[in-house]
Amino acid sequence: MKTLFYSLLILTLFSSCSQDAGKVTLNGFPSGQWIDLTHTFDENTIYWPTAEKFSLDTVFEGMTEKGYYYSAFQYCAAEHGGTHLDAPIHFASGKNTVDQIPVDQLIGEAIVVDVSTKALVDRDYLISVDDFQTWEIQNGPIPDDVIVLLYTGYDQFWQNPIKYMGTDETGEQAVAKLHFPGLHPDAATWLSENRKIKAIGLDTPSIDFGQSTYFESHQILFKHNIPAFENVANLKQLPAKGSWVVALPMKIGNGSGAPLRIVGFLADK
Ligand SMILES: [Zn+2]
Repeated sequence: MKTLFYSLLILTLFSSCSQDAGKVTLNGFPSGQWIDLTHTFDENTIYWPTAEKFSLDTVFEGMTEKGYYYSAFQYCAAEHGGTHLDAPIHFASGKNTVDQIPVDQLIGEAIVVDVSTKALVDRDYLISVDDFQTWEIQNGPIPDDVIVLLYTGYDQFWQNPIKYMGTDETGEQAVAKLHFPGLHPDAATWLSENRKIKAIGLDTPSIDFGQSTYFESHQILFKHNIPAFENVANLKQLPAKGSWVVALPMKIGNGSGAPLRIVGFLADK
């Protein structure tokens, strides 16, 4: 299975890399560094205050009567928690469910927009059009078919829900206490209509900020069939441009979201 996965990945990366040249090169995978952008799922994993948390129950763990070791567990969790994908259907009727999102929309070149300086001093910070235009002044135009990643710096607080999202309470009354940065709806519109992006992700629990009540950035992005990755980890380790991202969710049929294994790749220069 492992070999098959890497073969597929090589095919995907190279066919994408060499599209302009019109040929597929398969004589080697570039050397570089893989970076895990995923938080572990366990009993401490952060979920939306109203969502069912991750639980892992032991079916069997230990030595069998036949003398060999065996372990198996079963898990239960809401779609939206931990590092996960929001499918467009989550806030836009008729748009893609998790299983309908084309795989090539989840794999691609990535850019990282670092707003941590502003977001870390204002936990209600809204990432603005100006932040993207500043990125473009420094790095050139946002390329077509790119995965946009927003680094707020909040993933460093992952172990502490109060610091990470403003509250460690659960239930409906906790939702109003959420405070964390997110994407301004005007920026969601600007990105959706003026740039051509595959997907967007960030290191907070939601693409809309914690105090949002209408989840407008979700509505705008998902109307354009742009999925979102939430609670992404380790974005600090990726450069502003030049990395690749592979973000493959559990393929839940008709799912509105799913646990996500997301990794970044930095090729050696
Ligand atoms: Zn979600």
